Amino acid sequence: MSIAEHFDDMSYGLSPESDAEARAWLARHNHSFGHYIAGGFTTPDASFQTFEPATGKPLAQLARGSAADVDAAVAAARKAQTAWAKLPGPARARHLYALARMIQRHARLIAVVEAIDNGKPIRETRDIDVPLAARHFTHHAGWAQLQATAFPDHVPVGVIGQIIPWNFPFLMLAWKLAPALALGNTVVLKPAEYTSLTALLFAELAAAAGLPAGVVNIVTGEGDTGALLVDHPDIDKIAFTGSTEVGRLIRQRTAGTGKSLTLELGGKSPFIVFDDADVDGAVEGVVDAIWFNQGQVCCAGSRLLLQEGIAGDFIRRLKRRMETLRVGSPLDKSIDMGAIVAPVQAERIRALVAQGVAEGASLYQAAIDLPANGCFYPPTLLTDVQPANVVAQEEIFGPVAVTMTFRTPDEAVQLANHSRYGLSASIWSESISLALQVAAKVEAGVVWVNATNLFDAAVGFGGRKESGFGREGGREGAYEYLKPKAMAGRKPRPVQPQIAARTASASDFAVPAIDRTAKLFIGGKQARPDGNYSRPVLTPKGAVIAEVGEGNRKDIRNAVAAARKADAWANTTAHNRAQVLYYIAENLSARATEFAARISAMTGRTTAKADAEVEASIDRLFSYAAWADKYEGTVHNPPLRGVALAMNEPVGVVGVICPPEAPLLGLISLTAPLIAMGNRVVAVPSAPHPLSATDFYSVLETSDLPDGVLNIVTGEPQPLAEALATHADVDAIWAFGTEALSEAVERLSASNLKRTFVDHGRLTDWHYPSAEGADWLRHATEVKNIWIPYGV
Ligand code: NDP
Repeated sequence: MSIAEHFDDMSYGLSPESDAEARAWLARHNHSFGHYIAGGFTTPDASFQTFEPATGKPLAQLARGSAADVDAAVAAARKAQTAWAKLPGPARARHLYALARMIQRHARLIAVVEAIDNGKPIRETRDIDVPLAARHFTHHAGWAQLQATAFPDHVPVGVIGQIIPWNFPFLMLAWKLAPALALGNTVVLKPAEYTSLTALLFAELAAAAGLPAGVVNIVTGEGDTGALLVDHPDIDKIAFTGSTEVGRLIRQRTAGTGKSLTLELGGKSPFIVFDDADVDGAVEGVVDAIWFNQGQVCCAGSRLLLQEGIAGDFIRRLKRRMETLRVGSPLDKSIDMGAIVAPVQAERIRALVAQGVAEGASLYQAAIDLPANGCFYPPTLLTDVQPANVVAQEEIFGPVAVTMTFRTPDEAVQLANHSRYGLSASIWSESISLALQVAAKVEAGVVWVNATNLFDAAVGFGGRKESGFGREGGREGAYEYLKPKAMAGRKPRPVQPQIAARTASASDFAVPAIDRTAKLFIGGKQARPDGNYSRPVLTPKGAVIAEVGEGNRKDIRNAVAAARKADAWANTTAHNRAQVLYYIAENLSARATEFAARISAMTGRTTAKADAEVEASIDRLFSYAAWADKYEGTVHNPPLRGVALAMNEPVGVVGVICPPEAPLLGLISLTAPLIAMGNRVVAVPSAPHPLSATDFYSVLETSDLPDGVLNIVTGEPQPLAEALATHADVDAIWAFGTEALSEAVERLSASNLKRTFVDHGRLTDWHYPSAEGADWLRHATEVKNIWIPYGV
């Protein structure tokens, strides 16, 4: 062919990357690897075979992690943790920086091994995965350097178990390791069974970079090795990325153990195109949204929502673009899509697409060549998809986009949020006001405006709803590997004494007070409990001073419905929320003596102590009124042409189980931060001393708090907590009480993966300054990172 003909034809030739170095590395290891524990590789006694996705050929033998292996790795991490945490931040920073430099020096080897092992194109591993992994280590070297001044009131969590999936093996390792190590934790990491090679290569490089033994340990294996890590009693935190199904299981397995947990799970993210969008730009965006990494991306823009007027034209242009996509060897530098990670995944994609078509979707796959061998699946578009179709609901985790249409921005938001997931969203419009208006309304942890799949170490990543909880990256992600100093060393809460009600004696001939049974407080109104039962409120000596309603499951349902109806509170200005909190404080202050007397009567505490509790409660309300317009977001400056607005959004409807002690201060300390941030609350007050809460109704009624923002259901904490934890329309639960309460709340919250904040039966001193402030507000908010184009 002549040069002129090449210019006419413009077709791609082969552009193979050499795999010689990578194959030599495998050969040096005899294609067989042990675990990396305490700074050295073990000799495996049981192993399994991995395969090369692009060819189907055997690739390596990996050790199958047993209980003894996990024990050894956790012991090594534990042994190293104290010394690692004691290293001054700048010394840890040097280690992280050395790891970043090591990654940069061996970037091509890592990129090639990753492409071979996972099947993803070298173009992506070379230009995205590996450079971004290095960036994570340099960025977090910075947090180590600044730790003492940036996080003075926090300490490392301890030994972390990290479990990662196969879609971004090396990048996920960096996302997980860099913040954990930077802030003084040590790690046992389990890579995915299909793709462990770059983790083992990293271990080798880390050892060469002088990382102390035991700081990072890598145990390979299958799901049951991951389960051993999750269940290990000497792990302080599990950080997991993977499927929602396994995430839910891990939530249940760790319930009540005191282990911290972050979950980065699945998604079904909307890609919304308005009729004023740059259509060609958006078409190219779809390529990056769903055909990047063969669509095996948790935040893939897999649901294309197109405004009706442009839908036909958009789909036509998209199909034309699909015809030019190239699928082939991951080591060919000019292909767009490589291989699917394993035959079982390809089969899952095929089955879901077939089911979608059976449910009415129309299938389009461009007539492009696929390699004859290996595990490949073509770029796929499904149109005529109804929102209830399985392919619109389930995460396919493959190169399959589904399209739906909408007419108005409100309808787009409704469709976007019609999912149990809430990981990310991509919004395309040339109108910045429309894009940002929609960005505020979509339920997602990450939103890209006129872009998609942008990531950076400085910008938090993570989801809402069943996409999991916690953030990775940036300052918001750093907190996931730290705990407040004030939380350490709390004592167990003393067991509440069982007081028997005293019956009237022959000498009790006083005129009875006019009977007044406190009701529940739901939707701004006092409501009789559904079951029509009451419970007595006793003095410490057992005398009945009043009765309150015995709330049940139905009352919780009514309270949650009232809270949901009050969603507008989330959109009132922070100034407004502050004013309401000041007003509540003012009205409480006017009745301070009466509230103190009530505390004394219920608890038997001295007047001075009761006065102090009321005073502290008023002060706390003032503090959160002050915080309401000061706990603001951040603007991240990633090394891209744009900024990310990290907005603190309310979590939603939150159930609060108040501690038995401090009947007024406990209630205020837990509900005020939530209300200040725009959440709606269903609170269960102190079980033995509920009258401070029921007296509080009349303060609320005169304080301009909109109906339904704070609902109060008196009764037995455990069953009411369980009703809240299993309720599908509750977004989070804060529970302070017994260990059993914490366990039940964490376990049952797995139903829809609610955020939980529990004390595991440990006592908080509500009068301490640490019982209020930013650590509490962090639990009351979710960070949404909105990436917007900015600058030149
Ligand atoms: P999993 O969630 O099963 O795997 C993720 C990680 O968890 C892997 O390291 C896995 O080990 C490990 N694991 C599996 N079971 C357990 C367990 N019981 N306890 C502890 N760890 C466990 O995802 P799959 O790889 O099986 O993929 C299945 C589906 O999940 C995909 O089709 C996709 O829909 C979704 N997925 C979503 C991801 C996301 O980022 N959102 C990432 C990966 C998958 P091993 O690999 O050895 O099984």
